[in-house]
Amino acid sequence: MKIGLIDVDGHNGHPNLALMKLSAHHKARGDTVDWWNGFEHYDRVYMSKVFTFTPDMDHVIDADEIIRGGTGYKDYGSLPPEIEATYPDYSIYPNFKSAIGFLTRGCIRSCPWCIVPRKEGHIRPAATWQEIKRPDSREITFLDNNVLAHEHGLQQIEEMGGVPVWVDFNQGLDARLITQEVAQLLARLKWIRYIRLACDTSAMLPVIEQATRYLAEAGAAKSRFWAYALVQDVAEAEHRVLELERMGVTAFAQPYRDFNGGEPPQEQKDFARWVNNKAVFKSCTWADYTRRTK
Ligand code: SF4
Repeated sequence: MKIGLIDVDGHNGHPNLALMKLSAHHKARGDTVDWWNGFEHYDRVYMSKVFTFTPDMDHVIDADEIIRGGTGYKDYGSLPPEIEATYPDYSIYPNFKSAIGFLTRGCIRSCPWCIVPRKEGHIRPAATWQEIKRPDSREITFLDNNVLAHEHGLQQIEEMGGVPVWVDFNQGLDARLITQEVAQLLARLKWIRYIRLACDTSAMLPVIEQATRYLAEAGAAKSRFWAYALVQDVAEAEHRVLELERMGVTAFAQPYRDFNGGEPPQEQKDFARWVNNKAVFKSCTWADYTRRTK
């Protein structure tokens, strides 16, 4: 079979895990797999779209079969188990050097703004860190949504503390689950850059303060403390971001998007621009920024 792949909202060279697994699966069956190029006929084309707010492709696709998948198409299903278990074909993203994957899938919580409970269900083990690691890289980017909520995740973190791999949990860690014992496991890891937490409401501030204290006591570098800050009410988000920065945690503001990918209000987008551009953030207050930009 001749297979074409389309990474509909591929950005910044960040790889699409589902497409890498589909590529490996088809190559193992002897199929030809290439990026769709618009000039050839394909037996089957896979289109994967991660985000609901990015534009879809409107090209005519010459293929016997077109399969669309991913949250961006409001497809909350998963790959067939035999494909999900396939080791990804990293060769289709030659500039990406880290391994990516999930130690766990799902989450124990059901935050109203989050698609994960609907998409992935309750937390369960998915893979070991050795299964995810690339032989040609010591970096692993984990996509877990709540790795600390499962014994399997904690066990993998404990194992990685003693080996030369550098990690990132790029969806953020749940600070409510960072006890002194968990902080000691996390502090033994080698971090690619940040220890990412999630601070989506003001109720999380004391929790983050305690978690970062535990992490610092366990030996983690304070310069690595970082947190996602969901933005809904801008005044509340401003208070939260300033509190995070007072604690020494770098805040990253994320305007809220509903499940249909609706555009956030301009004020939320301006606020995120102010918070996330650290040179601007350090040089003026939010009130000054809004006055200047007006
Ligand atoms: S804890 Fe995180 S992943 Fe789990 S439901 Fe809440 S926002 Fe989603």
